[in-house]
Amino acid sequence: MSFETGLRCRDCGKQFRPQPIAACDECFAPLEIEYDLEAVGRAASPALWASRPRDMWRYRELLPLDAVPANLPTGGTPLIPAPRLGRALGARRLFLKNDAVNFPTLSFKDRVVAVALRKAQEFGFTTVACSSTGNLANAVAAQAAMLGLPAYIFVPTGLEPAKVAATLIYGAHLIQIEGNYDHVNRLCAEIAQRFPWGIVNVNLRSYYAEGSKTVGFEIAEQLGGELPAALVCPMAGGSLIGKIAKAFRELRQLGWARGETAICGAQATGCSPISTAVKSGRGEIEPQRPQTIARSLAIGNPADGFYAAKLVRESGGWAEDASDGEIVAAMRLLAETEGIFAETAGGVTVACAQKLLAQGRLDPDRPIVLVLTGNGLKTLDAVVADQAAAPVIRPRLQDLEALLAAHSEPALATA
Ligand SMILES: *Cc1c(COP(=O)(O)O)cnc(C)c1O
Ligand SMILES: [Zn+2]
Repeated sequence: MSFETGLRCRDCGKQFRPQPIAACDECFAPLEIEYDLEAVGRAASPALWASRPRDMWRYRELLPLDAVPANLPTGGTPLIPAPRLGRALGARRLFLKNDAVNFPTLSFKDRVVAVALRKAQEFGFTTVACSSTGNLANAVAAQAAMLGLPAYIFVPTGLEPAKVAATLIYGAHLIQIEGNYDHVNRLCAEIAQRFPWGIVNVNLRSYYAEGSKTVGFEIAEQLGGELPAALVCPMAGGSLIGKIAKAFRELRQLGWARGETAICGAQATGCSPISTAVKSGRGEIEPQRPQTIARSLAIGNPADGFYAAKLVRESGGWAEDASDGEIVAAMRLLAETEGIFAETAGGVTVACAQKLLAQGRLDPDRPIVLVLTGNGLKTLDAVVADQAAAPVIRPRLQDLEALLAAHSEPALATA
């Protein structure tokens, strides 16, 4: 059963019963799902959660579904200490939340879609849709196939080939829109008026976003109930970062986690409306025209940008942004130090964490969590361009010896 009590407008506070609506009908602000936290406190506990299978559904009391799916092992991703990356960045207690290995499509979007599509079914929708910068398309296509639901997926032209292929493979109706994500999103708002579809990030947006809280619940549980001193999270529309903060807040209210976290945001310099708002101190978001290899984060007019910038400042965090060159260098650093191949958004997060540490905005002695949200195999084009080709030799030992000698490899000394 669900402990959801309804929706509440983030600006004017107007309350709504649970329903698929995109925004407040008075002031057009986003709607937030509310729960009966006292009832949750009576029905569940950290010990009960820990006794359940290691996936996102163990936190079901704080998700807005009447029933959670069986056999969908989304979430439950590793939080790993990263001492070698930490040494490179100058942080002594660095952790990586690795959603690059999420089930089934290797990004944190699997969590939001897992909630959104089940909610779509509870509301009686028989067709689902979304606008996407790539990862959401993959996740909706895969999970719609699992449920036998037709899916219409709208993306900007020029996405990474892997993200296009990893949408089409599931038989989804993929439609490319001339323009950038903001054009796609505007079209989807009109589609929502015309077609009776459950559109994951339009009329189901409040429900979809709740799935992101499970990233925060897992981090808290994996750190034994001690919230990290700081967290660095990539921002596109600005939803994920807000939901991780909401998860921490709910756990503190329940008395199930302790500590305050400085929430830090990361963007690509080529699409940095939120980090720019944080740095300039202006409250308002000025929309940008995206130009970056971090296509998954390329939202020039972020729906939750204003709230994300406010959250970052009020939590005592900060925001940074990274150029394309810095993104690729950080993807490589992460891979070489910790053996994790994250997508461009991961490069954004690592590069921005590096800047925040160098600026003294993060305490290098206290626990810092970096959120890695997607898999590097989906953005290969970002790294292959400037990778040296691997050498080719004949199948002869002497060729190998000549090669190693030419590179003065120490391995030769062991012969
Ligand atoms: C969607 C996405 C994000 C952030 O999304 P928000 O719109 O800010 O919630 C971060 N990383 C990746 C890889 C994504 O696909
Ligand atoms: Zn309102």
